[in-house]
Amino acid sequence: MLKVYSAQHPTEAHLLKGILASYGILSEVRGESLFSVRGEVPLTPETEPSVWIVDESQFDDAKAILKEYENSDILDGSDKELWICRYCGEDSEGQFAVCWNCGRPRLRSLK
Ligand SMILES: [Zn+2]
Repeated sequence: MLKVYSAQHPTEAHLLKGILASYGILSEVRGESLFSVRGEVPLTPETEPSVWIVDESQFDDAKAILKEYENSDILDGSDKELWICRYCGEDSEGQFAVCWNCGRPRLRSLK
């Protein structure tokens, strides 16, 4: 097990777990059970939600995917515009946060 990401919130950690899964990378979320008692325990790397990959040989791939995530916005589907999946090129309707075709999240590059 290798830690690949420290998230701001358990929801973000689970989102990233889902993104990694869409690339065939198994991961686990740790630290979320401590999140609710934050404030009562010292803030350390052990108390923040984090994402750990199961197969350490996928570490570089996972890092590359998460780097792309960090440079992107996950859009929440609040706009109704058609959008084009960055991964497979299919159109999806605005209310969908993930691609209907490949299941990957809707990302907007900030670059
Ligand atoms: Zn797609």
